[in-house]
Amino acid sequence: MKTPIRPSLGTKFRLAAALGLFVLAGLAVQPAAAEERAKDLFGAKKLPAATAAQSIGFYSKGCFAGGVAIPMDGPTWEVMRPSRNRRWGHPAMIAVIEKLARDAAADGWPGLLIGDISQPRGGPMLTGHASHQIGLDADIWLTPMPSRPLSMAQRESMSATLMVDEKTHLVKDALWTPAHTRLLKRAASYSQVERILVNPGIKKKLCDTVKGDRGWLRKIRPFWGHDYHFHMRIGCQPGSPGCKAQEATPADDGCGEPLAWWFTQEPWRPNKNPDAPKARDLMTMANLPSQCRAVLDAPGPASAEAATYHVGGAPVAVAAPEPEAPSLPATSAAAGLPSALNAFSATPEIGVPLPRPRPPGN
Ligand SMILES: [Zn+2]
Repeated sequence: MKTPIRPSLGTKFRLAAALGLFVLAGLAVQPAAAEERAKDLFGAKKLPAATAAQSIGFYSKGCFAGGVAIPMDGPTWEVMRPSRNRRWGHPAMIAVIEKLARDAAADGWPGLLIGDISQPRGGPMLTGHASHQIGLDADIWLTPMPSRPLSMAQRESMSATLMVDEKTHLVKDALWTPAHTRLLKRAASYSQVERILVNPGIKKKLCDTVKGDRGWLRKIRPFWGHDYHFHMRIGCQPGSPGCKAQEATPADDGCGEPLAWWFTQEPWRPNKNPDAPKARDLMTMANLPSQCRAVLDAPGPASAEAATYHVGGAPVAVAAPEPEAPSLPATSAAAGLPSALNAFSATPEIGVPLPRPRPPGN
């Protein structure tokens, strides 16, 4: 069989030109809704959907309504990369982050530097992250909050500390402290937190050094990246019937064979097809749960401020909500959550999810 002839430069050029025209045509005329890239639609939303809090779909394929923002600054936290506008989450997620910030400070961690949570209405992001789509994922830096307040400009530019050697995939011992271990242990101690993703080197460090109670190591899961931050994921919350739960982590500490795999060549082989588009880049509205269209179209609150949790209480009331839309104040935003829940109450016990069978190919 003859080897197919590579397209000539001219053919390539014509193809590119045709694609270029297609893109221009797409800008001029709105393509059918189902073909719109979900990341463009969700990435353009500046404010949440002002309805009862609800996560819809899966962590890597969904959206959420009734989101609230964590304030840019709290007594024991600062939001990093504020221009990204990814400080939004399900009210339960924001409550857990604020609780961790307080508890960690009591444990001796000066404060949290908070990375990406979600876009205001979740959905796939323009850049980064496959997950973080339903308001139940948050990235927290492994760098403690500096003693001097960071300016907005510093939060955009300050670089994170890489905790793991890129060649050996082991934690840099000069950087790792018992306070890092305490922070992860505290986060894992919350019943709502189902898993925490860290670099395999960090998991190994914990496996090698944690004495006594090791039950919490079950929630600490090795994954690529996550060498300057950890990723905290909470379970589906009450009031979200369309939220698809993730399978439970195995009951053991995860320090055995599954961890050893990360220290073989296999996970680190170069990607055979590095230019292949990622799922989040291709997702259209048709790929997301159908309710995500309603989330996209729902009215928003008057301002970001109107949907922000504040020190000492629940989110402030939304000013002038659309008459037909359920409003976002504490009562409805936290529908299905214990009524006492607010950012500074103790994080309620919502219950440990039942173990689910492992899906194939996990
Ligand atoms: Zn993350």
